[in-house]
Amino acid sequence: MIKENPLVVSVGECGLDYNRNFSTKKQQRYAFREQVKLACELQMPLFLHEREAHKDLLEILDDVTAENLTLPPIVVHCFTGTEEEALTYISRGYFIGFTGTICKRDRGAHLRDLLPKIPLERIMIETDAPFMNFKKGRKSSEPIDVVDVARKIGQVLAIPFEEVAGTTFKTTSSFFRLD
Ligand SMILES: [Zn+2]
Repeated sequence: MIKENPLVVSVGECGLDYNRNFSTKKQQRYAFREQVKLACELQMPLFLHEREAHKDLLEILDDVTAENLTLPPIVVHCFTGTEEEALTYISRGYFIGFTGTICKRDRGAHLRDLLPKIPLERIMIETDAPFMNFKKGRKSSEPIDVVDVARKIGQVLAIPFEEVAGTTFKTTSSFFRLD
């Protein structure tokens, strides 16, 4: 049923957030495991949220794989973790989503440092609007601010804005099977 609805392109966002802990860790792990299984059964891309829960997230993905289920394509969105965590996700074939945090002077510094180590083809850009505000004088972000994210990535990698926009658009379209 879900699969027949053309508006449904992904399972998520889902994942683990040990920073906010809106539910207990145990509840989060239970729900996440079931959502990953659903994505495997439907073979729909997984849109993941992970905050301070890198190890547990990988463990659940590995557990599900051990049950003989095949993981669909995975993107870890709104990435704010460490370089090691980013490279682990990349080595597993996952994609990484960057928001406007990458534009922030202090909070984005470590993301700009790790950016050159990630293939451009594995990057997606987003705003997480209305959250993750990063533009001066505004309390929230807007979808159009994704242009600033692309521009910043181009600056850091010293490549044209058009190349970042084109490549990330292609990646996103094929990841969510929009083409
Ligand atoms: Zn999220």
